[in-house]
Amino acid sequence: MRYQKLAKLYEELSSTTKRLEKVEILSKFFEVLPKDDSEVIYLLMGKIYPEYDERKIGISNQLVIKAISKATGTEIKKIIHEWKMLGDLGEVAEKFTLHKKQSTLNSHILTTTKVLENLRKLPSLEGKGTVNKKLGIITELLTSADPLEAKYITRSLIGDLRIGIQESTIRDALALAFFKKDKDVSEIIQKAIDKSNDLVVVLEIARQGKINELEKVSLQIGKPIKAMLAQKAVNPKEGFAVVGKPCIIEYKYDGFRLLIHKNDEVITLFTRSLENVTAQFPEVVEYVNQYVKGKTFILDSEAVGYDKKTKKYTEFQAISQRIRRKHNIEKLQKELPVEVNVFDILYLEGKSQLDEPFEKRSKLLRSIVKDTPYKIIASKQIITDDEEKAMEFYNQALENNQEGIMMKKMDAEYRPGRRVGNMIKVKPEEKDLDLVITGAEYGTGKRSGWLSSFILSCWDGEKFLEIGKVGTGIKEKETAESGNVSFKELTEKLKPYIITEKGKNVTIEPKIVVAVTYQEIQKSPNYNSGLALRFPRFTALRPDKKPEQANTLKEILEDLKNQKR
Ligand code: AMP
Repeated sequence: MRYQKLAKLYEELSSTTKRLEKVEILSKFFEVLPKDDSEVIYLLMGKIYPEYDERKIGISNQLVIKAISKATGTEIKKIIHEWKMLGDLGEVAEKFTLHKKQSTLNSHILTTTKVLENLRKLPSLEGKGTVNKKLGIITELLTSADPLEAKYITRSLIGDLRIGIQESTIRDALALAFFKKDKDVSEIIQKAIDKSNDLVVVLEIARQGKINELEKVSLQIGKPIKAMLAQKAVNPKEGFAVVGKPCIIEYKYDGFRLLIHKNDEVITLFTRSLENVTAQFPEVVEYVNQYVKGKTFILDSEAVGYDKKTKKYTEFQAISQRIRRKHNIEKLQKELPVEVNVFDILYLEGKSQLDEPFEKRSKLLRSIVKDTPYKIIASKQIITDDEEKAMEFYNQALENNQEGIMMKKMDAEYRPGRRVGNMIKVKPEEKDLDLVITGAEYGTGKRSGWLSSFILSCWDGEKFLEIGKVGTGIKEKETAESGNVSFKELTEKLKPYIITEKGKNVTIEPKIVVAVTYQEIQKSPNYNSGLALRFPRFTALRPDKKPEQANTLKEILEDLKNQKR
């Protein structure tokens, strides 16, 4: 297929903000999409591989600017100037390609296959000369592109397509194209997407129009799968109202999610962002080998840090560095040990467990995990219909330094990636949020040279909206061992993502997620979310979360409502 056709589709999709119209446009496209071009569906999501695949395009704005410059014969300074004016590198590429086109003739025809092929070369490049090779690959594409194609190649490269398409839009478009829009079919397609994590697999089955084939899509061990998410309640009573009585209650451990896959000899560990962290946790691999029975399985768990001397659980931030650091793993392992608390099982010996009731899954996992404290255990739990007992357990969890409790519906299936009320978290009215840094200001005096005040944004499902500024909770001096972050460290983390600089103020690409606490939320005209956090305080980096996993405006508005109550 010509890439131009796809570029026109992108353009058509961005011409409307109405979801239904987008679904219709996409569905028409799917109806005529040739079989050989199924992988175009990845490009529609701004990706080059299925969701479960870790390889990402990962190109900096700077490199794209250089490529535009080479491909169009425009000075870099001019490109940056135009970028500041238009605020979109895609439009900049479009404009300069148009200029160039008026003076030269271009004979290449770009196909979607060629674009995918080149984009896919990018993540695999390593070592000497990488930057130049990448530059060559991008420039090749941009040189062959017409203006509209250049716009969308550029936007794909920097991961900002701006066409307002989500997985759910694609889901509904597939339902409309091949099953004539049936709500139940949308749900079945969604399940197939959640289990395979691969839109091409789902597209190819949907195209045959066979619902029962879609229902057969299953998990695959070793391919990461999205974790089921929790809804929130303010107390056990409200929790019971959602999950029913009796229910299973567990500690809400303050660690990080770990999905453990075992396929014969091979054990793989994934975070909730589907990132493979096996190399960072060799001891966990060993625990799984030693203390979990079974040849093939997928377990869902929370890895929690504990103090090596007192053996008390620590908070997430104390061990957060273990997720990212790739060196000195042995030392870190000793300094910051983790205990794996297994709370669910998704697959065992060739059979998916997703549709089994939670009660049964929970028993099943208990039959294969040999409780070995400070290494790996089945999560602590009670089964009760009694609010007082629930409250007692809740207090016990808090005394044990945990965040609260999880209340789980006994007969619930496991829904990968869904927040459907099968499990409810109950935490104290603590008021903390995970937000994304989207801007900052350089400091003065002791803090000069560092970014020292950070603009925080939440996610509204399509874009990031500003909600406050934070400058407290960050260290002036570096304190290596503790989990605290210094201004220097944060500045270095953010620098590569700076988009524009104006005086002391910079705007930053939404990449870095941080946890903050706050005292109150107010309505405010100062930020484009319409809300402002009062007294926000930085508590930790959240390297385990993607920007789109930050708290949403909807959730924060809910917090505002609860606050009023
Ligand atoms: P939140 O991140 O606040 O939405 O809370 C949900 C998270 O709690 C999950 O993603 C898990 O990482 C974590 N968690 C801790 N303990 C449990 C548990 N017993 N069952 C399920 N999730 C848990």
